[in-house]
Amino acid sequence: MFNLLQLPYAENALEPVISAKTISFHHGKHLQGYVDNLNKLIQGTEFENKSLVDIVKTAPSPSPIFNNAGQILNHNLYFEQFQAPQSNNLPIGKLAEQINTQWGSFDAFKAEFETKGATLFGSGWIWLSAKEDGTLIITQEPGANNPITKALLPILTFDVWEHAYYLDYQNRRPSHLNDLWNIINWTLIETRFSF
Ligand code: MN
Repeated sequence: MFNLLQLPYAENALEPVISAKTISFHHGKHLQGYVDNLNKLIQGTEFENKSLVDIVKTAPSPSPIFNNAGQILNHNLYFEQFQAPQSNNLPIGKLAEQINTQWGSFDAFKAEFETKGATLFGSGWIWLSAKEDGTLIITQEPGANNPITKALLPILTFDVWEHAYYLDYQNRRPSHLNDLWNIINWTLIETRFSF
């Protein structure tokens, strides 16, 4: 039995990047729907008492159970990573060092991340993940997929399903992705980059 993630901020805390209206639909309706669907689908199955991560790693993909479990895992990581808009909002610590080592600058990293977000066709997610050797990789994941299915450690994600931005940005997905950097909670993100 899974429960809806409690947001660590008020519904309007992320404005103007993500409006309270978008949060109310995205978190309150879409994510709640995935939670309700998964709870029904796993009843009486081998997945009933498994963790979300175990379900995503072991359920056939795609399948209704995989899709709903993947979307819950993805959205939990997505909603947890935000805070109210900050000026000059930059990565910190070991993650900042690794980004600079691999991309040369945060701006170059952002450019690759945003380009991969803008060019993912249809619905899906852009992820920054760590490999087992501690190096970083940016991947496009279609539908409900999560990098844990590729033995990667997910660190940061942008949701490029239209429901994530359409009320606020309509078709301007690239503008939305560019603005998301202002609300990333890098202190939280840094805790995910650990081995
Ligand atoms: Mn979404």
